[in-house]
Amino acid sequence: MQTIDALDTTLRSYLNPEQASHVRRAYYFAEQAHFGQVRRSGEDYVTHPLAVAGILADMHMDHQSLIAAMLHDVIEDTGIPKTAIGSQFGPTVAELVDGVSKLTQMEFETLEEKQAENFQKMALAMARDIRVILVKLADRLHNMRTLGVLQTSKARRIARETLDIYAPIAMRLGMNTVRMEFEDLGFNALYPMRARRIDAALRNARGHRKELVDKIRHQIETTLAQEGHEVDVLGREKHLYSIYKKMKSKRKSFSEIMDIYAFRIIVDSVDTCYRVLGCIHSLYKPVPGEFKDYIAIPKANGYQSLHTVLMGMHGVPIEIQIRTREMEAMANNGIAAHWLYKTDSQSTNGSHTRAREWVQGLLEMQQRAGNSLEFIENVKIDLFPDEIYVFTPKGRILELPRGATAVDFAYAVHTDVGNSCVACRINRRLAPLSEPLQSGETVEILTAPGASPNPSWFNYAVSAKARTNIRHFLKNQTREDSVTLGRRLLDRALAAFDRSLDQLPEGQLAEYLQRHHYEQLDDLLEQIARGNRLPAITAQQLLGGHGADPTLAEGKAAPVAIRGTEGFMVSYARCCHPIPGDPIEGYLSSEKGVVVHRERCKNLADMREKSERLVALRWDELVEGEYSVELRIEVENRRGMIAVIATRINSMGVNIEKISTDDKDYQFTYVDLEMLVHNRVHLAHIMKRLRAISSVRKVTRIKN
Ligand code: MN
Repeated sequence: MQTIDALDTTLRSYLNPEQASHVRRAYYFAEQAHFGQVRRSGEDYVTHPLAVAGILADMHMDHQSLIAAMLHDVIEDTGIPKTAIGSQFGPTVAELVDGVSKLTQMEFETLEEKQAENFQKMALAMARDIRVILVKLADRLHNMRTLGVLQTSKARRIARETLDIYAPIAMRLGMNTVRMEFEDLGFNALYPMRARRIDAALRNARGHRKELVDKIRHQIETTLAQEGHEVDVLGREKHLYSIYKKMKSKRKSFSEIMDIYAFRIIVDSVDTCYRVLGCIHSLYKPVPGEFKDYIAIPKANGYQSLHTVLMGMHGVPIEIQIRTREMEAMANNGIAAHWLYKTDSQSTNGSHTRAREWVQGLLEMQQRAGNSLEFIENVKIDLFPDEIYVFTPKGRILELPRGATAVDFAYAVHTDVGNSCVACRINRRLAPLSEPLQSGETVEILTAPGASPNPSWFNYAVSAKARTNIRHFLKNQTREDSVTLGRRLLDRALAAFDRSLDQLPEGQLAEYLQRHHYEQLDDLLEQIARGNRLPAITAQQLLGGHGADPTLAEGKAAPVAIRGTEGFMVSYARCCHPIPGDPIEGYLSSEKGVVVHRERCKNLADMREKSERLVALRWDELVEGEYSVELRIEVENRRGMIAVIATRINSMGVNIEKISTDDKDYQFTYVDLEMLVHNRVHLAHIMKRLRAISSVRKVTRIKN
């Protein structure tokens, strides 16, 4: 069993004394935090984080990773919060620990192949700092080593998850030593009988093979020494799980697989790799079609080596791998090799620096190889994803662009869900639709029949599918609204001449539409509603120039009634905030349609020069909806006054849209509020309630 003193010796071999002592401090912190907790083996719990840190120290990981490893179960298993870790060990360590905890909480359930791949991507996307993954892999490695052969359902679940998720992640990161250990431990736990049988067969075969292995190795070594190459020749054995997979996928018997003799030759330079290959090919006859040059064309995770298969004496096949020491390190440790062999401490801090170096290395390797960059896209995208991965309530994983919100999620589920979405829960908590989603979150969409997309969604929907659907819906809706409003405006203008649209002779209308290049009446009505064509002038032209001056006629017609349900082509001016009960007047603004102002609005006074654009309006008796209004409240300077005011307003069931303050003098402050009300009576009631607050001196509606 490892002790903190033994670990300390390793630490001092590559960290500075200060960093090493921080790690030691983290150990004591963890020991305190987990005090009284024991592992299933009966050992003190702290032996686990200590062992995890030990695994990472062997990889020469930086001190922050080691501290995070010491503390990785603290948030999850003890009452100590992230903030406490932050104040003791700094924000970076706190983020690392938090990241590992989040991964631990992730539940892997249905494991179809596609799902498993998405889980891998999600895990990588959740870890904004690649060190989170490395700590998690070390954690899982120690848990697997201490899993025992206990066939509990929990042990099986952990083993399954290791094979489906963590072994492939280790492979993506090029960490083959870890991957193989995951595979063998997982295989042992899931299929103990099969593992034992293969293991026994392997031991048996090893005895028989020993003589031949030694003989071949000797031949290779002698030949290469004669040519002046100093190399290491290693006998190579497949690991349990790969033998099992080969037997299963290639339907080969154990002896067929074991009939192959495999060696690895480690040399000092790339150049030597090819020279050694030449020597070997002259020693034994190469099998055609089996030579692979992964030095010129590396594998996606950066693996480089020469592979060849030879025919040995008595026709035994011999597999040979030839690579440099550096390639060997990369093949074993992958991304972690960047910590193991680069000891310059400057780059230890930048969260993704080493990962970037690794990806950069792959990129350069690939450029040297001179073919398409596509093959490393896989790894690159995983480490610096443009996507987020979130769960549906049923555990399905959806991939969305970075920055996506619940609206994007809703449309990704189904267009109908998007169109009728009204609210959402993120991790079971009600959240605004505009909140950006994070990888790993579970999102539930609440829909309501008859609900429809809101134009404001455009501000935060990022996926093409959501944006297209919202745009499409709004366009249709706007068209309908416009046609209805245009008809009312035109009818009213015709009424000034004692006529109406229905009464117009058929031919007269058709002739007019044709002359002005409108395909149908609705097109004309839409242009009127949009303010691109003035109703009074249109009416006069329709009537063939008969009748009075349109601006004079304007006065005779009854005002257009506003119900609040006109939709997109009627809007309410932000300058004067009209509410039902206020005298109002409309301005036909091009492209915006009718903008409703209060009659006495200053801005409207400026527009009176273009009187042909003004429309007389009134509120309909059946007006609906909520209207934004601004209040200024003068209050005594006292702590907590804003909260008092906000609470009072909320208690009346009124929504506050905006709140801001402005000090008037040392004694009084202005609180400016924007809120939604039904009408003037409603507003008067609210103002009265606000005046009743003792520190409030004055409440006024802001006028323009
Ligand atoms: Mn753990």
